[in-house]
Amino acid sequence: MPRVLDLRSDTVTQPTPAMRDAMARAEVGDDCYHDDPTVRRLEERVAVLLGKPSAVFLPSGTMANQLAVHVHCRPGETLACAPGAHVQVHEDASAARISGVQIMPIGDPAGFGTGQLEALVREESCGWPRVGLVWLENTLGTAGGSIWPLPQLRALAELARRHGRSIHLDGARLWNAHIASSAALPDLAACADTVSVSLSKGLGAPAGSVLAGETETVVRVRALRHALGGSMRQAGILAAAGLYALEHHVERLAEDHARARRLAHAISDLACWRARTPETNIVLCDLAPPWEAAEALCRPLRDAGVLCYPNLYREVRFVLHLGIDDEALEEVVARVRAVCGVAAPALTS
Ligand SMILES: *Cc1c(COP(=O)(O)O)cnc(C)c1O
Repeated sequence: MPRVLDLRSDTVTQPTPAMRDAMARAEVGDDCYHDDPTVRRLEERVAVLLGKPSAVFLPSGTMANQLAVHVHCRPGETLACAPGAHVQVHEDASAARISGVQIMPIGDPAGFGTGQLEALVREESCGWPRVGLVWLENTLGTAGGSIWPLPQLRALAELARRHGRSIHLDGARLWNAHIASSAALPDLAACADTVSVSLSKGLGAPAGSVLAGETETVVRVRALRHALGGSMRQAGILAAAGLYALEHHVERLAEDHARARRLAHAISDLACWRARTPETNIVLCDLAPPWEAAEALCRPLRDAGVLCYPNLYREVRFVLHLGIDDEALEEVVARVRAVCGVAAPALTS
C-alpha cells in the first residue's frame, strides 16, 4: 500500500519531532489559576505579534469564534459575514444555539464591501435585526484561502466603528494572509476589536487557538471559556507546541503557497475541472461537466492514496501544509493525473 497523502485540510498535520521535544520540555502549571508559565508566554507572544493588549489561549478556533459572538452580541442581534464564512457553515449553528444571534451573509464568499454593510445597517427597522457584529475572515476559507485586502478591511473597520459596531476577525489562517500579502499582522489585527488565530492549521500544532483584544474583553472571554468547560489545567504542553510553531512554522507557509500554485498548474489541463489559481495554500478545482459530485472524484483518488475534500459547491479542495514536501507533491500530481486524467472517461459511466 503506497503512503497516503492527505490534502483534505491543513489540520491533518502531525507535530514534528522538534515540536514534540518542545512539548515534552514545557514548564507547566494550572492554567485555571492562570498559573501555567508556558500558556502565559504564548498569550503574551500572540498579543505582541497582533499588537493587542491581551490574549487568551483556547482549545479551538470554533470556541474562539463562539466566545467572540457571545461577548460582542446580545440575543436577537445579527452578525454580518461573507456567505460561507466558517462561523456560518462549519460551527453547528452555535451562534444561534449559544448566543441567540442570527447570521446575515452579505457580499460573496470572497468578502463584502462598505456599500453592502452600509445598506444592511440602513435597513435596521421594521423587523430587521440590529447588526451587533461585523465579521471578517482572513484568509477566506470558502473562497479558497483568498486574501481580504488590507485597504478593504480598513474601510470596513472605519465604517463599522462610525456606526458603533463591534468587529471580529476570524484569523484562523491570518498567518497565511500575512505571509502571502506582506501585510503586517498588527495592521490586519487593528481592523478588528477581537482577533482569533489558529495554531493547529498551517502552523502544525496539535491543538489550540488564541483570541486577542482589549484586556477587558479578554477577561470576559477567559471567564466564558471556564464557564463552557474550555479551561485546561497543564495546558502548557499544548502552548509549547504553539510557541514552537510561531518560531519555526510561520515563514515556511510561503512554501505551502508555492506548492499550491505548482499543484494548481500541474493539474490545470485535466478535463474534469478548472483549477483556480490559489492565493495561499488552498487549491479549489471547480468541476466541469459532466461531473456533478465532487465525491465521485474524491473516492477514486482516495483509493489511489490521495485524500482531498469534496466541497458542497461542485468543488474538489486540496490543502497544502507542512506534511507535504516537494517529493510528496510530485507523488500527488502523478496520482491525480493517473486517476483524473487517464481514467476519467471510464469513471463518468
Ligand atoms: C478551522 C477554522 C476555524 C475553526 O477552528 P477549529 O480549531 O477547527 O475549531 C474557524 N475559522 C476558520 C476560518 C477556520 O478555517
